[in-house]
Formats: sequence, structure tokens, C-alpha cells
Amino acid sequence: MDKFFGRNILHLFFPFRCPVCGEIISPREFFCADCTANLPFFDKSREVSIKNVDSFTAPFVYNEKISPAIFLLKNGIKGNSAHALGEFLAKSVKNSDFCGDIDFIVPVPMTKKDEKRRGFNQAVVIAGELSKRISVPVLKDAVIKKRGTSEQKTLSRTDREKNIVGAFGISDKIAVEDVIAHKNILVVDDICTTGSTISEVASVLKENGVSLVYCACCCKTV
Ligand SMILES: [Zn+2]
Repeated sequence: MDKFFGRNILHLFFPFRCPVCGEIISPREFFCADCTANLPFFDKSREVSIKNVDSFTAPFVYNEKISPAIFLLKNGIKGNSAHALGEFLAKSVKNSDFCGDIDFIVPVPMTKKDEKRRGFNQAVVIAGELSKRISVPVLKDAVIKKRGTSEQKTLSRTDREKNIVGAFGISDKIAVEDVIAHKNILVVDDICTTGSTISEVASVLKENGVSLVYCACCCKTV
């Protein structure tokens, strides 16, 4: 069956819109032509070094040419934003040096309380979109966020690191030795700023025997 069959039917009732400018687009498009021409691609030759992370990739730089799509994703108006961001994230992972070497995708977790309040975790949504496209399973509750933290974007780099240390752990529902030890894991999030959150998640994974930790985010701030 045409992989766009479901989208073609849905489009008749709820026309798809460009997740950046809101213009109506076809079921086969991800962004409208204008926004596609202006997508802020992340320069792959830019070195991103995050402690405990072996390799990093992102399709976009975070700026106003992509931020409306991230806003829609975070606010649960996922429709085309998850679809479009997932597609470009998958392209970026497929072009990375670590594609083909990933055992599981792990989304950056929220605390149970935050996830309940929001109703979903956007990192889980994007991990699901990526999983469909690269055929790697998502391990949703392997890493848990044990305590609340102040919003990272309000803090300085040093304070971000302090804020996040010890916030994550491995779920006791996971048999570490059987499931994640000696495996390679791709950690996924919507935006990466300084990388301190990703680094902390990666450190928990490595303390529990994970061999290599890769990271893919939809956007990297520069
Ligand atoms: Zn547009």
C-alpha cells in the first residue's frame, strides 16, 4: 500500500499544514516550498562535544525558521510537526557514522508528574517517529527522571550542570544485564542546548554498562 495512503485520506478531512508557517501542504510534503527552501540546516562539520556522548547529530539549528514546528510538537499539536521533524531527524541519523550500530532509542525522560501534567513527552513522540523510519525499537521507560529540575533555559551553563546532576536513574523494571549492558543506545530529544541533560542521561547509561551512547536531537542551539 502507498505509504501515504493514510495521510491522503486524513488530508481530505483535516488538511495538512506546514508546521512552520501554517500554509496548507500536500500529504507528501513535510514543510511548504518556501519554508523548505529556508530550513536552517545544522552544519554537520561543526564539532559537538558532549561529555559521555560518543557521537552527535541534528538536522537543524534552532532559530525562528524552525522554532514554530518545535512549539507545535511541545504543545501537543503534533500533526505535521512530529511527522516533519521525525523525517528530517531520521535523515540525519541515516547519514551519521553510527547508523546501523544502534540497539535501542531512548527518549530523554520527564518526571512522571511533568508527563502527567503535559499529557505526553515530546521526546517520546519524536523517538517513535524516528523508530518507524530506522527500524530500531524505543526503550521508553529504561531511564527515568527521578526528581524535578528548574527549567534549564533559565540557567547559566554551570547552573544547568548542577541542576541536572543526579536527576536521572535506571528504572528498576529494567534487567540491566539482560537489556542494556554492552548495547549501543541513541538518546533522543527535541532540542539540545549545552548538552548537560543529554550528558547526564548518557552518564547513567554508561554507569549501567552501555557501551556507546549516541545522541540525535531535532535542533541544536548555536
Ligand atoms: Zn511554511
